[in-house]
Amino acid sequence: MEIITSIREMQRWSEARRRERKIIAFVPTMGFLHEGHLSLVREGKRRGDVVVVSIFVNPIQFNQPSDFATYPRNVEQDRRMLEAIATDVLFLPEAAEMYPPGFQTTVEVETVSRPLCGAFRPGHFRGVATVVTKLFNIVKPHLALFGEKDFQQCVVIRRMVQDLNFDLEIITMPTVREPDGLAMSSRNARLSPAERQSSLCLSRALRKAQEVVRQGERRSAVILQVVRDEIAKEPQVRIEYATLANPETLEDVAEVAGPTLLALAAWVGEVRLIDNCILQ
Ligand code: AMP
Repeated sequence: MEIITSIREMQRWSEARRRERKIIAFVPTMGFLHEGHLSLVREGKRRGDVVVVSIFVNPIQFNQPSDFATYPRNVEQDRRMLEAIATDVLFLPEAAEMYPPGFQTTVEVETVSRPLCGAFRPGHFRGVATVVTKLFNIVKPHLALFGEKDFQQCVVIRRMVQDLNFDLEIITMPTVREPDGLAMSSRNARLSPAERQSSLCLSRALRKAQEVVRQGERRSAVILQVVRDEIAKEPQVRIEYATLANPETLEDVAEVAGPTLLALAAWVGEVRLIDNCILQ
């Protein structure tokens, strides 16, 4: 596996692969990799000829400095994991190279960035859309893979790719979970053993909601109450939002009629976790 830290060198590498008619698959990450990330890399390998993974803890998408400061990092471990699944390139830029003095251009995807996480993390999706735009211009992929665990991010990126005519395909992949149901996340490493146990109420709440919908319940208010009641059983967990929304527009829905996104965010101690599922 080649490790590239310079933007210019990454662009040259990709230009060379494109001249060889190789399909470049790209997985952007913030590192501290787990099976969720690796599932994207494996799919990238399956669909492309070469796969590039970036690790960049993007400062401009963190709305809280403490979250940025405590975000888990272990590049050496990440490198070994990526090497073990035959990643072609690890792109590892420095913040000073991505955002040199004078940097002032950002990308704002308007409506779909506003609800859900956007309502609680001002500037977050602007930071995401901006760094993903930069990474697309640096890595020049034919396809880019994203996880549905960050469902709103997938919607924002798809909208951006369509609106700005990026010549690439976006592929989204299902959420990978721990055996007990917790959605894998780099931030899980920050949970104490007791918090780790409490955080199981999130995936349990999603399952309960799926169950009541299977039994015929359609009213959002009733379904969301089931979710809130399940999370309320864990006093260490503070719900930030639980919403039923149209999975394409992310607008709230009053009833489940067709595929509906159930998305939630909650604080477990100092750690903010998100999870979601599609109710049918
Ligand atoms: P992150 O490093 O958290 O920015 O995530 C990088 C990519 O991995 C994003 O596209 C995420 O949606 C995806 N991802 C994170 N956690 C999971 C998971 N549990 N299952 C599938 N994809 C994930």
